[in-house]
Order: sequence, then C-alpha cells, then structure tokens
Amino acid sequence: MSEKNARTYSGKCVDCGSSLELYEVDFTKGRRIMQCTRCGLYHFYKKDFFGKWKLVKAGRVSDLWRK
Ligand SMILES: [Zn+2]
Repeated sequence: MSEKNARTYSGKCVDCGSSLELYEVDFTKGRRIMQCTRCGLYHFYKKDFFGKWKLVKAGRVSDLWRK
C-alpha cells in the first residue's frame, strides 16, 4: 500500500481558506473527500497517474461521486 501521500492532508478550503479534514476515502477508486473544518464545504480529490491527489471539485453535498 502506498499511503505515503495519505498522511499529508494539507489542503485549504476554496471558500474560506480553512484547513480540511478527511471525510471519506476510497483507495480502490483513488478518491477522497475532504471537509472544511470551518464551513463544512466538501472537497473532492482524485488520484492522478503520479499518485498525487488532485482537487476535482468542491460542493455542499457529500455524494457528488455517486452521480
Ligand atoms: Zn471552508
């Protein structure tokens, strides 16, 4: 398992700039959801070819992936 990057949950909310905390992660699909600790905005990350987490979108609901 390559969880090297999993520990660096360094992200900033696109809305208010506060730090993010892990909400949900799916290593099988290479997806991760982070939530803002202040305003609760969800940030959707996807793993790219190099194993780096890339912010795809942000939204108020946590089930955007399931659509
Ligand atoms: Zn925020």
